[in-house]
Amino acid sequence: MSRAILVTGGATGIGRAVARHFTGRGDAVVVTGRRRAPLEAAAEETGARAAVCDHTDPGALLALLDALPHTVDVLVNNAGGNTDFDAEADPAVDPAAGPSADPRTAEALAAYARGFRANLEANLLTAALTTRALEGRLAPGGAVVHIGSIAAVQGAGSYGAAKAGLSSWNADLARTLGPRGITANVVAPGYIADTEFFRDRLSAERRAQLIAATATGRAGAPEDVAGTVAFLASPAARHITGQVLHVNGGAYPTR
Ligand code: NDP
Repeated sequence: MSRAILVTGGATGIGRAVARHFTGRGDAVVVTGRRRAPLEAAAEETGARAAVCDHTDPGALLALLDALPHTVDVLVNNAGGNTDFDAEADPAVDPAAGPSADPRTAEALAAYARGFRANLEANLLTAALTTRALEGRLAPGGAVVHIGSIAAVQGAGSYGAAKAGLSSWNADLARTLGPRGITANVVAPGYIADTEFFRDRLSAERRAQLIAATATGRAGAPEDVAGTVAFLASPAARHITGQVLHVNGGAYPTR
């Protein structure tokens, strides 16, 4: 039976692999993101339908609802990323947000607050707001899966804090949706290579460190995460809810 599936941030990386998995089995998938070009490429490659949407924006979410089928079986809250990377890459974005800035000035504290909020919005609010908007239209027997991170247990500033917040908020969501036969879980990837998230941002040394921390001796692939999302969204997982499932090749918490 074909299901209706929304993958947020589904134009690239892990989200695209998730979309590809579901379209491959005949599901009707909608992928979203803020940039049109990657969305169009993803739609062409996977057969998913693309919709531009910034998941931090309530107005954009309401417009998205109009573009979705009336009932949605699976919501994958994948949109996110470490907004500190953007600030680092372009000092003009937030010059005083870095850890070395003197925290005793109003300007530095305001910049820190801006940086912290950006990660909470990108990684926690996106999931909460999207789920809130769609909640009433989730089908009985359906599933919500959020993409968390190993950073939630390792600690990684406001990014890790936002990802950790997902599991607390999800525990509550699982209780809300449970009576309707809908599950809610977090998949927490470790280092996944070849997505935009880390591309060109890791030194060879850091990459080797991350791989050395795994038991499998390799970086994860987006498809490794997609397989786990698919399992949690399947009837085989109907009694699993409110959980965090780690997909990290046995990486132990280390920095
Ligand atoms: P990508 O950068 O390829 O994917 C992130 C996607 O999210 C992009 O397509 C981006 O598109 C979209 N996105 C970001 N913010 C928004 C927003 N506000 N509204 C709509 N779309 C948004 O990286 P990954 O595939 O690696 O990341 C996917 C998820 O996995 C993220 O939540 C990330 O935190 C998590 N993760 C990744 C790990 C890794 O090692 N790669 C490890 C652990 C977790 P656009 O910019 O066009 O909006």
